Amino acid sequence: MAVPKRKTSKSKKNMRRAANSKYVAVGIINCPQCHEPKLPHRVCKSCGFYKNKEVVETK
Ligand SMILES: [Zn+2]
Repeated sequence: MAVPKRKTSKSKKNMRRAANSKYVAVGIINCPQCHEPKLPHRVCKSCGFYKNKEVVETK
């Protein structure tokens, strides 16, 4: 709710901002094959696996 800056306590302001910063780390999961962090619905960069099958050659 929009209220004058001075009337919002530091506590209330921080609580409001904390609610929006919860979702920062969304979009990174650990690969089930090699447990490296990867983006969902993408081939894993380190092992080349997608849906438990190797789809990209890796060294
Ligand atoms: Zn992997």
